[in-house]
Amino acid sequence: MTDNASLAPALEARGLTKHFTFRHGLLSRRGRVHAVDDVSLVLAAGTVTAIVGESGSGKSVLARMLARIVMPSAGELYLMGEKVVLGQKGRRQYASEVQLVLQDPFASMNPVHRVRHSLVRPLRIHHTAGPDLEESVKDLLRRVALSPPERFIDKYPHELSGGQLQRVSFARALAVHPHVLLADEPVSMLDVSIRLGVLNLIGDLRDKERLAILYITHDIASARYLADSICVMYAGEIIERAAASTLTDSPAHPYTELLLSAAPDPARGQPTPLPTRGAPPRLVAPPPGCRFHPRCPYVMEICKTTPPPPVTVDAGHEASCWLRLPAGERRPEASSQASLPMVRGGPGLHARKEVASRNEP
Ligand code: SF4
Repeated sequence: MTDNASLAPALEARGLTKHFTFRHGLLSRRGRVHAVDDVSLVLAAGTVTAIVGESGSGKSVLARMLARIVMPSAGELYLMGEKVVLGQKGRRQYASEVQLVLQDPFASMNPVHRVRHSLVRPLRIHHTAGPDLEESVKDLLRRVALSPPERFIDKYPHELSGGQLQRVSFARALAVHPHVLLADEPVSMLDVSIRLGVLNLIGDLRDKERLAILYITHDIASARYLADSICVMYAGEIIERAAASTLTDSPAHPYTELLLSAAPDPARGQPTPLPTRGAPPRLVAPPPGCRFHPRCPYVMEICKTTPPPPVTVDAGHEASCWLRLPAGERRPEASSQASLPMVRGGPGLHARKEVASRNEP
């Protein structure tokens, strides 16, 4: 599955997979954590793509693979159309194109250095400063709406609020003139009152600087507000993707419905989460078949044995769920087909409720 496919890709991932191995028990048996499995996505210039999922779904590992901090077990990266040779070589050049902004701005800044130092360092290392170094630093601060820059340039991290410090993190990322920004939960540690300002900053960087931005979050409401397209991740896999408005107005996967039902929506009033069973799976031994099946209220027999293939629900909207295929096409071999016929609409909520009631114990 790919998204943003009609736009020129700045960064593209194909089949990215990360399995962490470890040893456990008296016999030192080898175990494996399936952190990310076969994820493909396209980040296009001038767009925000959101990855939405709960803690432990693999979204941060995915961001670190895209930043080349974590080496994938399998898969390929393409930067501006060129295949990236994975390994240590060329990492500095890659970092000048792809920058990662982390969740905790206090942990990502050196507490003993002033803002000036944090911004001068990348300008020097990547030779991106203009003729006047001081003016280059001030320009970075203005680009992240820390104005006048003289008020912030000599501050230490502890003298800034979380929102201001996260803006400095973005300024530091911009110092190397990247094409791609990977923002890993950039507002989740901030006070609610200042989150909107940072989200609007990310939107400005997309619109004014034409950056390709990956916005990682567990909050589907903020993804709906900011992103152009949304990929929903569950247990290491992308299970649904679509334009943000399509996905939030017409979710096609039961897990997306669950996320949306728990998200605040002024039009709907108080959220009323859908009933589900159990907790997210352990990625050491993901459930067979559909990884969501132990929690899914619509589970069928085929879901327990065979992973659902990605099904095109509508143009640009794909979901990996057996319910999206007509009953006659729900065959195990369908999961190995590369592409499937478009199923417009697919079974609606009413049909799914019927299925669910048939599967009630
Ligand atoms: Fe997974 Fe089946 Fe539920 Fe679809 S209906 S989400 S395939 S368990």
